[in-house]
Amino acid sequence: MQATGNKRRKYDYAGILLLLVVLAGVANAAAPVPQSASQLLAHADNIKTADNAAFAKLLQELQGRTAELSEEEKWQLRYMQAYQSAYSGKEELARTQLEALAKEAPDSTLRTKVTGTLINVLGIEHHYDEAFQYLDQALDNLTQVTDKEARFHLLAEASQLLSDAGQHELAASYANQIIVDYPNGRNGCIGRMLELHDKLLGGQTNIAKDQFQEGIDSCLAVGEKMIAGAVRRDMAVLDMQQNKMDDALDLLQKHYEEVKGFNYPALDADYSILLAQIYWKKDNGFLAQKYATATVDIAAKSDFTESLVKSYQLLYEIERQQGNLRDALAYHEKYVAANKEHLDDVREKALAYQIAKQQVETKKIELDALNRRNQILQLQQALDHKAMVMSRLYIALLLTVLASIGFWLYRLKRSQLRFMRLARRDGLTGIFNRQHFVEEAEQALRYVAKSLRGACLILIDLDHFKTINDTYGHIAGDNALKRAVLICQQHLRSSDVFGRIGGEEFGILLPECTLIQALERAERIRLAIQAMPDSETEHVPLTASFGIASTTHYGYELRRLLIAADDALYRAKRDGRNRVVVSMNGHAPDTGNNQARRDKLTNAAPYADSAE
Ligand code: GH3
Ligand code: MG
Ligand code: MG
Repeated sequence: MQATGNKRRKYDYAGILLLLVVLAGVANAAAPVPQSASQLLAHADNIKTADNAAFAKLLQELQGRTAELSEEEKWQLRYMQAYQSAYSGKEELARTQLEALAKEAPDSTLRTKVTGTLINVLGIEHHYDEAFQYLDQALDNLTQVTDKEARFHLLAEASQLLSDAGQHELAASYANQIIVDYPNGRNGCIGRMLELHDKLLGGQTNIAKDQFQEGIDSCLAVGEKMIAGAVRRDMAVLDMQQNKMDDALDLLQKHYEEVKGFNYPALDADYSILLAQIYWKKDNGFLAQKYATATVDIAAKSDFTESLVKSYQLLYEIERQQGNLRDALAYHEKYVAANKEHLDDVREKALAYQIAKQQVETKKIELDALNRRNQILQLQQALDHKAMVMSRLYIALLLTVLASIGFWLYRLKRSQLRFMRLARRDGLTGIFNRQHFVEEAEQALRYVAKSLRGACLILIDLDHFKTINDTYGHIAGDNALKRAVLICQQHLRSSDVFGRIGGEEFGILLPECTLIQALERAERIRLAIQAMPDSETEHVPLTASFGIASTTHYGYELRRLLIAADDALYRAKRDGRNRVVVSMNGHAPDTGNNQARRDKLTNAAPYADSAE
């Protein structure tokens, strides 16, 4: 489990990361290094990605020489600083900096670029709903964006984000606008790559192969080998769809080594899994297994869930066919877990898109209703005696229209609320999902911090859950998870924040709670889980381990509390499970009496015992 409190970077969003790099512009490192602050600024902009270390240094130097910069250049510098935060993985900082710039920067071109980068960062951070809101506003103003580079930046982000939300047709049409703006050159190459990718994902099977070749040529003409590599990947997918396995194999094999050299693991993983799938189709189990295993190696490191799903599925099929049932089952389980995570992510993006779309529609209808109300008022004022009857009819008609608009508005709002609820809840247990838990817990901590009232964080991890799944099956495992949640809920106050933060891991933030109270509460939950009668548990024995951290020792930052509680949880596991451990200033002492209490129980936890 990750205890940092940061959302895990999903490199499923590899496309967005790719854009962060490719949208940065072309390096011109060969130019002589300039001296004046303005020249330095321009030079820095040029080497952003080509020599990021030097770029970071230049930013530092420029920070000390802001007095020499014009107002416009100062804004430019702030944007570069935010870009660097994003590039170096400090997304939260980048987000704050970009949001301020999007509001305050006086120049509309800069604001557009800022919004593009902000959308990118929000995507990486999984804040899809906000990303779509920014995108929507920006697209509304697109016609006023005259700067071609800024326009390109925005169109590319739009295409990428919509693609990730499964809106491939729209995504392809934005990519097409890029090609119209830039028939040639680097931006045209990126536009072609995006358009072809979305046509393919959108299910267009009649794309001519020439189009892919054109895309590849346009990228190679400007030296963009990596993007050409991405187009080749899609060309191979088309070949595979048309059952031309040999063509696909040739293409991928020829460029496999080159792709490895790009140091861009997302593309690497794509090539590997496609090769594995082709070999499997060609009955070469040995090579299929080799490439699928290679995919797992790359994908597991970076958390590309989609590639992981495909490779586990393939490895499962291979092992099954070879009669290795144990290995097959193990892969199947990994496949199920990865698939679930992947589907959750896909659902999250699609929901965010729907929510944003509904909000826009609601706004439009509200505006419409307002206009009509004004019309009625004007009409009433203009009422003259003779026309009264006719006008009354017209008013009645307008009122009916207004009523039906009101009705639609009400329905839209209702379904919007439903979507929002769904996006915050975990599908299996109905409690907060990780992202929402973090948001709520951070808010609660801010609140208690103001009055210096303490709070505690409890992390709970069910014991030996893998064994439970293996022994009793996944469905029994799911039911056990739901029961554990019910028990926790019975011990919560209305102000407590409760969420599922991982597979069988939960977090409870207890505002205005002392360490002793938290300990007692955790202990009660622990005993209640352990003491569930067989009749309720379908005979699945269940225990859990607990880690606690308090703001008294670790302050009000959720990230630090998570690390400390996770540390304590780790000790609880190491010391035999089915126990509560408190973390205090770097130490996580056992609470002492847990062992004694547990020994007194006649039906001591079967798993904990076997682990000791
Ligand atoms: P430990 O006592 O050390 O926590 O052992 P463990 O087996 O619980 O540890 P680990 O975290 O390695 O395994 C957790 C397992 O929980 C792996 C995964 O198969 C299972 N799991 C995660 N989410 C779900 C779910 O939604 N349903 C079911 N049935 N199992 C799940
Ligand atoms: Mg566990
Ligand atoms: Mg676990």
